[in-house]
Amino acid sequence: MSRSPYEKNQILTVTITDLGSEGEGIGKVDGFPFFVKGAVPGDVAEIKVTKTAARMAYARVECLLGSSPNRIDPLCEVAGPCGGCNLQHYSYEGQLAFKQNKVKNNLMRIGGIEKEYLEKIMEPIIGMNDPGEEPWHYRNKAQVPFGKNREGKTICGFYAGRTHSIIPQTTCALGVPENEAVLDAVLKYMEECGAAPYDEESGKGLIRHVLIRKSRAYGQLMVCLVINGKKLPGQEHLIERLRGVPGMYSVSISVNREKTNVIMGSSYETIWGEATIEDRICLCEETKETARDGTETTLWKETENGGVIYRISPLSFYQVNPVQTQKLYSTALRYADLKGEETVWDLYCGIGTISLFLAGKAGKVYGVEIVPQAIEDAWANARRNGIENAEFFTGAAEVVLPAFYEKHRNDTSVHPDVIVVDPPRKGCDKACLDTMILMQPERIVYVSCDSATLARDVKYLEVRGYHLIKVRACDMFPQTTHVETVCLMSRVEGK
Ligand code: SAH
Repeated sequence: MSRSPYEKNQILTVTITDLGSEGEGIGKVDGFPFFVKGAVPGDVAEIKVTKTAARMAYARVECLLGSSPNRIDPLCEVAGPCGGCNLQHYSYEGQLAFKQNKVKNNLMRIGGIEKEYLEKIMEPIIGMNDPGEEPWHYRNKAQVPFGKNREGKTICGFYAGRTHSIIPQTTCALGVPENEAVLDAVLKYMEECGAAPYDEESGKGLIRHVLIRKSRAYGQLMVCLVINGKKLPGQEHLIERLRGVPGMYSVSISVNREKTNVIMGSSYETIWGEATIEDRICLCEETKETARDGTETTLWKETENGGVIYRISPLSFYQVNPVQTQKLYSTALRYADLKGEETVWDLYCGIGTISLFLAGKAGKVYGVEIVPQAIEDAWANARRNGIENAEFFTGAAEVVLPAFYEKHRNDTSVHPDVIVVDPPRKGCDKACLDTMILMQPERIVYVSCDSATLARDVKYLEVRGYHLIKVRACDMFPQTTHVETVCLMSRVEGK
């Protein structure tokens, strides 16, 4: 393999022109790309090379010679070391443009979609900057690891980028304000009752993570302690402290004794209050208002249908940004274009969030989800909202869908008109995509949290009878490089 033309510790001057997928600045010196941590497009910087490879090198900023107009001061003190946010130092407008471009590039490069066509069909990214909104404090969920610092003191906080070393912090600029009081209460309880934090190396210690969830609609707080043991010493002290936090609604423990990166255990036990919290999500309509001076503002207004109420248990997936979730689901529903009689599948349905919105506008909805507790929530949510045309299956989409298809292939009454998918980052399994193609729905609505695997699956469907019709990115995760995308694909007649 050829060697890098540059060496470690070498000092160079570079103009940053692009952002990499992890938020690092990219600049070229004589055509050779440098990935520079902490730099943003528009910066001119003196950099020090930290690592070299044949085709690229990594570096960090030694001295900023010229600052990008999009560079801003991060809100959070630990924005640099914390692995949670990697774009806090970049203006929100810059972040949105970066994400729109990221989705577009993936659909072009990996998805094989032509640039001109894509530019025609891609709608503008949905930002979190309507009047009255701010791209901060949006996360309704925190999963906070516990451990010890060098002096042996118990701490909790957030993992530093790419490591499991904890940066002590009980507040977070993305989280809800209540996180601080909850974490302080748990830390005090641990000190009082001698509950030790878990140590990943030795596998000893009790308290691994604390999960905190807050319902945006009702303010209900859920706390779940993930523990490496059967029970908590002095549990009543913990409960006493947590009850003091306004809004506390549900306290539980989840036992996880495995040496694993998986955070939650496979079950949970409620130790105080309710087993679940509830939240409500409303559909929205995007409206545009033009001021006298001609400036246009976009406003997503909740439609007055009362929305859908969801019960959420500690083990179920629930979108972390409720403000943007409404806009995301509204877009998915618009793309589904239901008239009232359709049969719709919602694959990877979680607690039935999208399914129940679809059910309001379709004849019949089938949801599929792998986590049994989430399916329990989905059934309960259907009942809670008086929805009778939704049915749920527990299992992997790539197993449930083919089995259903085999059993009913001659029964046209279950022919799906629309299939919605919302898979985890790794995208859809081939067996799932193949069955979707066999089932021949008119439309596929693909909701994705990873535009690279989305693009891979779009390409797979494009050569098998489906065509990309619409794309919209939605900024569910401001201050980070992550972006959610919704795509509409339509069946090409005769294929
Ligand atoms: N649509 C839901 C959930 C999306 S997250 C919402 O918006 O809330 C993706 C979901 O897929 C998770 O609930 C996860 O548990 C589930 N999942 C992961 N792998 C799966 C598989 N192979 N088959 C079905 N569901 C799966």
